[in-house]
Amino acid sequence: MRDYLVNVLINIPIFEEFSYKIPKFIDKNDIKKGSRVLVPFRNKNVVGIVIGFSVDDKKSKINFKQIKEILDIDPLIDEKCLELSDWASRYYHHPQGEVINHFLTPSLRKGAPASLKKKKYWSLTTKGEFTSDEDLSRAPKQLVIIRTLREVQELDLMSIKAHGLSRSSIESLKRKGYIKETIKETKPILLKEGDKTKFKKLTEEQQRGLEKIVSSNKRSPIFLINGITGSGKTELYLRAIDEVTKKGKQVLVLIPEIGLTPQLESRFRELFGDKVVSIHSAKNENEKIEAWLGAKRGDYQIIIGTRSSAFTPFKDLGLIVIDEEHDPSYKQSDRFRYSARDLSIYRAKLNKIPTILASATPSLESLRNVSLGLYDEIVLKERATGAKLPSFSPVDLRGKELNHGFSQELVDEIEEELSQENQVLIFINRRGYASSLICKECGWISTCQRCDAHMTLHLNPPLMQCHHCGKQDQPPKKCPSCFSDEFEKFGLGTERVEKFLRQKFNGHSVIRIDSDSTRRKDSFEDYINLIRKGSPAILVGTQMLAKGHHFPDVTLVGILDADFGLFSADFRGSERMAQLITQVSGRAGREKKPGKVVIQTYCPDHPQMEKLIFGSYYEFSDYLLEIREESKSPPFSYLAKVHSESVNSNISRNFLAALLNDIKLDKELRVIGPVPSLMEKKSGIYRWEVSFLSEKRSLLHKSLDLIQNKLKLNKKASKVRWSIEVDPTSSL
Ligand code: ADP
Ligand code: ZN
Ligand code: ZN
Repeated sequence: MRDYLVNVLINIPIFEEFSYKIPKFIDKNDIKKGSRVLVPFRNKNVVGIVIGFSVDDKKSKINFKQIKEILDIDPLIDEKCLELSDWASRYYHHPQGEVINHFLTPSLRKGAPASLKKKKYWSLTTKGEFTSDEDLSRAPKQLVIIRTLREVQELDLMSIKAHGLSRSSIESLKRKGYIKETIKETKPILLKEGDKTKFKKLTEEQQRGLEKIVSSNKRSPIFLINGITGSGKTELYLRAIDEVTKKGKQVLVLIPEIGLTPQLESRFRELFGDKVVSIHSAKNENEKIEAWLGAKRGDYQIIIGTRSSAFTPFKDLGLIVIDEEHDPSYKQSDRFRYSARDLSIYRAKLNKIPTILASATPSLESLRNVSLGLYDEIVLKERATGAKLPSFSPVDLRGKELNHGFSQELVDEIEEELSQENQVLIFINRRGYASSLICKECGWISTCQRCDAHMTLHLNPPLMQCHHCGKQDQPPKKCPSCFSDEFEKFGLGTERVEKFLRQKFNGHSVIRIDSDSTRRKDSFEDYINLIRKGSPAILVGTQMLAKGHHFPDVTLVGILDADFGLFSADFRGSERMAQLITQVSGRAGREKKPGKVVIQTYCPDHPQMEKLIFGSYYEFSDYLLEIREESKSPPFSYLAKVHSESVNSNISRNFLAALLNDIKLDKELRVIGPVPSLMEKKSGIYRWEVSFLSEKRSLLHKSLDLIQNKLKLNKKASKVRWSIEVDPTSSL
């Protein structure tokens, strides 16, 4: 008799699927592709995802084990997502077991039921229904609850809070017998309708863009909204979303970091009401499942989320929007190293739906795709509010005396703006007080023992911290090498800039915004609201301040060190620098008052700096594209890396050297390495890499297949952790 086998994927980094027999008590027809099953694996029961079936021909003589249990009646992962996971696994050369688990929330991966948690609901009792408003005239909040319940029958805690009401009002109403409590499976209660009158009248440019989007007759067109900061890219794609949701379809909106843009979510809610849900790391597992199931069942129409929400299931997806498409946070940098942007573009293609990318500083990849005719570009050249782009004034730092990183010119400008009651934003891309401590006697430097990096000094609270592995120490009282107690604080960080500005501009508020100052939940939002109140202030911040904010009263942006990235060993360093400078500059003069940007640099006549300062991001990116074309680097060729990591530098290096020795690669493939990674030692691990470049994607992937097969079988591989990375990016 022939036995049917079920092929499943398990969440482990192994390039293999596993087969299991079906026990008598399970009907084969009850097992569906995309469902989870419980299977025995290495003496444990683990969750497997069914991806297919086969027949045991008995030739292999393997004694297959049996499935233990079916966990889902309906598949959790639909055909399209199975196909996407299969593609992603092949494209990124990553084990499909790990890839496919990205489509599930953490608890679903562990086998939790795919249903909503039970929770409390409140509804009116007969007494509550017939009570007159006078009875509660002295408890206006309770009255609001009663009135709302008359309209909507039941409320859960979340919607009570959304109405600005408190749990205590509920408790008193319950005590008085006006309402009763029931416990049942949660389902999203979608109360608030959107208000479409709140759409802005589009500018001519925006209108033309929208027409281009809605009139496209391509099967899955990709649009790049390439618009200067404040040109109304968001307002434009909101209209495109409206067109899609009006047809009953769903939309996925990817943004770099949701916590950073609370205004964006409220704008969505204003227009589309409770049909909007956001998914991000600050949500707890219950909320994640709620959003996940709500998207899958079609309760929610618009899902806004960060990188990982690219894997959200949908009932009827109609459009994918990727805002700030250039942002490095779309790339996952360990294990499954995917790009949420690229994966989503492929997903749209599979689903035959459009994609909208938006950025004021598009990636060179996307610009190249525009020039190849693969993307349709929508250019927005004017600010939607009618404001002008800020003017740039470079300050040549050569031969200048600086005060805590500030030139006299910048200090004068700040003084001037504050006297006009305006706000100033100072950008410095490093947190902490000083980037290292140096002993004045012997030159000892505070370095991290686990990384090739300095320990950064923080003053509030006082500690030394490695920004790469997180290691923390007390600041030394004496030099560990010569016991001197005199140190030089070297390099600038946000804390130092904040302290200097407080002393210099005594009496003005200085608001520091970086990941240290905003650690408390909601504190970032509090700061943003404070800034938007508009009293004169100086804001000091890292790239957190660069992303998409609209601060109407900022008139001056000061960039303390514009040269970061210009001489970076990473070929993407200058692209990233130009994006950050342009984005942060875009915070100046967004409304009535004109803006100005003071850029401090030691290289004002470096051609890239010139293009950026005296030209625009367009000129800069054109120029950089030419350079990349000459050197045949991405996007004019395709790049992949093989990484090896181990506790010993030689082992890491030799592993890659042996791999290259062992394998015969096409002569056309450019091979660079093995070389140590930009930071060779990190968290005590030594990292080496080899780069592979080709102008033909197919050649690159064929070579990677060979490499992957070789690595899979390599016995020495147990001593190193190796990985393949396709389309690598590294952020600064
Ligand atoms: P971007 O996403 O390009 O940075 P936004 O869409 O956030 O720009 O718009 C920038 C500012 O201009 C916002 O305050 C927005 O409300 C305003 N705005 C956008 N489009 C219009 C319009 N058509 N009419 C009036 N104001 C607009
Ligand atoms: Zn010393
Ligand atoms: Zn470290």
